[in-house]
Formats: sequence, structure tokens, C-alpha cells
Amino acid sequence: MNDLDTETSAELRAVRTKGIYNPESRDYDKTVVVFEGGRVSELRDDVPNDVPLVADHDGVAIPGLVDAHSHATIRPWEGDQIGQLGAHRTTATVKAVNNLRTDLEAGTTTMRLMAEEGYLDVRLAEAEQSGEIESPRLLPSGIHLTPTDGHGMVHSATDGVEEIRRRIRENMREGATHTKFFATGGISSDTGSPGQSQYSREEIQMIVDETHRHEKHVATHAHGGAGARMAIEEGVDTIEHANLFGDEEIDMLEGSDQYVVGNFAIGSHPRGIETGDADNPAIMAKLRESRVKSADAWQQILETDVNIAIGTDSMHGYMYYEAGKIVELGATTERALNAATLDAARAIDREDEVGSVTPGKRGDLVLLDDDPTADISALENPAGVFKDGVRVA
Ligand SMILES: [Zn+2]
Repeated sequence: MNDLDTETSAELRAVRTKGIYNPESRDYDKTVVVFEGGRVSELRDDVPNDVPLVADHDGVAIPGLVDAHSHATIRPWEGDQIGQLGAHRTTATVKAVNNLRTDLEAGTTTMRLMAEEGYLDVRLAEAEQSGEIESPRLLPSGIHLTPTDGHGMVHSATDGVEEIRRRIRENMREGATHTKFFATGGISSDTGSPGQSQYSREEIQMIVDETHRHEKHVATHAHGGAGARMAIEEGVDTIEHANLFGDEEIDMLEGSDQYVVGNFAIGSHPRGIETGDADNPAIMAKLRESRVKSADAWQQILETDVNIAIGTDSMHGYMYYEAGKIVELGATTERALNAATLDAARAIDREDEVGSVTPGKRGDLVLLDDDPTADISALENPAGVFKDGVRVA
């Protein structure tokens, strides 16, 4: 499918816009980007002689979106997310391929995956790299770590420090780019409350030590409470959700280089858990409570300069909604754009490759009709998407 693309992406080509958003200056710097070999070659204000102009866009451009937290196979609106993670591998794969195409068309060119069974995420990442599927480039976690009685438990539980050590080594051997573990309960299962701690301190220490020894980063599902605080203290790199955060957690994060990753559509969009798990009273009760607390927690987080990124948590194509939500909760439009681009790239440890339209980085670009710094809803329905210098939507 992509043999031709690979050939053509090696050639010089230019895209002209009314301005390219630079997350560093938080402004529009240049108007023309030149791609070569799938990467950004240069930024300028005119189209160089002899370089074909492959798009002349009467609007602005932003870097390709970086979804810092998703799951390829899950569709929250179909309900029973834990059951979906354990679905027949063919069913899960077919859904994943369609979901990822939706994400790409909505402007997501890089995505960190946060839990699949049977290394499906690693195999999908390989399929993306070989050009077999049309998808954002993928960072797989391998099998997520949760205890026998934990939230997120599908088939593979991991208990005790020695099992943790082995699980991480197995994940790394398969090709995981990070470790995902569940420090607290969650909303979309009957298992425990979102603030309930799941792992002991010595287990969390092993997760962090073993992952960092492989020079990879640790992503932590944590809504708040003792489990979240232990994870922050023990040096995890990203904290996912944070819907129950209060003064204590936020104080610990201020001035640290850890990132908090927000996911809002799954809890607040009508197409999220509200539709999927409507007939599960335990999940609905947790959802109602979390909506109120999440808004408080994130308003408080956004009053500080704690590092933030955003991700769709399986709400495929909804990065525009995630960005819109943090603006509604108090972020500037520029902070929201950065949380979806350069700050997300920093959170997932890929700042050298993606997150901004910078010479040497991947040739990822999203064309928009309107200016998202003026109105963040301009992110919805992009006019075009480039990945590795090639137009993919
Ligand atoms: Zn998730």
C-alpha cells in the first residue's frame, strides 16, 4: 500500500499555509514547510525554486497531534471496556485498524498506547512501521501491570516484585516503549473505587527501577489518593487521569518534571462511558461522582504550571474535544495546543522526533481552516493531515 508513498516522501516537497504554529514561541512563525525524506527539512516564507508545492492551504497549520494516552482496540461507546480488551484477537485487530485510521484522519500522527492483551499493541506498531496499516505511529506498552484483584485486569495479572520484574523484562523484549501500570482503581470496571490504592510501595519501586534501568518511562493510571501519591513519590514519569487530585498531589508535582495526562471525552462526552455502560449501575455511579470531582481537580491543576498533556483514552478522533475541554477548565488555547503537541511529545519521551514542525523532526502537519489560538474548536475536522511528509488525509 505504502511503497509509492515511501518513494515519494524521500523527495523534496513544500506546503504553503498562512502560518505554522510553533509551540515554543506559542505563535505562528513561518508560512512554508519543506519536507525531505519524510522529515521537516526547513521552514521559510517562500517556496524554493524547483521544489514542488504539494499543498497551498488558505488557512493555518499546526504540528501533527500527539495523543499521549489511548487504546487501539477499545470503543467506550460499545461498553464493557475490560471485556473489549479480552475480545477475540481477530475482532480486536479489525476494530483497532479502523479506530486508528479514524485517529489519523482527525490529525493524530503519534499515539502512545496504554494497555492491550497479548502484545496486540506491539504487533500494531510493527504493522504501522512497515506501512501495512494507515495509523498514527504507535508507542506500545505491552501488557499493562495490574494486580489480580485490580482495575484493568483482563487475563494477565502481575503480583509481587519478582513477577513485576519478569513482566517488565518480557514487555521490553517484545518491544514496549514504556511501562503502563494501574496505581489506583478506575471508573469503567466494577473493581474498587477510583481512589483506591492497588500496589504496595515496594511493588511500585520495582516498576520504576526496572523500567528506568531499561531507559524507558513509566505511565501510571492514577485518579488520586494514596496510590497516586506513592507513584509520584517513587518517580513515575506520567500520571494518567488525575480526576481526584487535590492540593497534596498537585503540590508534589509543582516544579517536578513529571507530567499529568488528562482524558476527558471518555467521561464527559455523551458517546463515552455514559452510552457504553448505561446499564451498569456501579459504573454509572462512579462516572457521576467522577465528573464533578474531575472538573474541580483539573481547574486546580490548570491554575498551576504543572506539566500537562492530553490523550483520548480510546475516544478515537476526539483530540479536538480533549483540547476544548482543558480550555473550558481554564487553560489558554496555546497551553491546550501544546498539551496536544510538544508537551505531549515531551511526556512520552519523543520530543526529538515529534511535537513541533522543526527541521530534523518527522514531517507531521495538520492543516486547519481557522486559527485554533483564537478558537480551539478549529481543531475539529482538519482540512488535511501530513505524516512523514506524505498527505494521509
Ligand atoms: Zn486508558
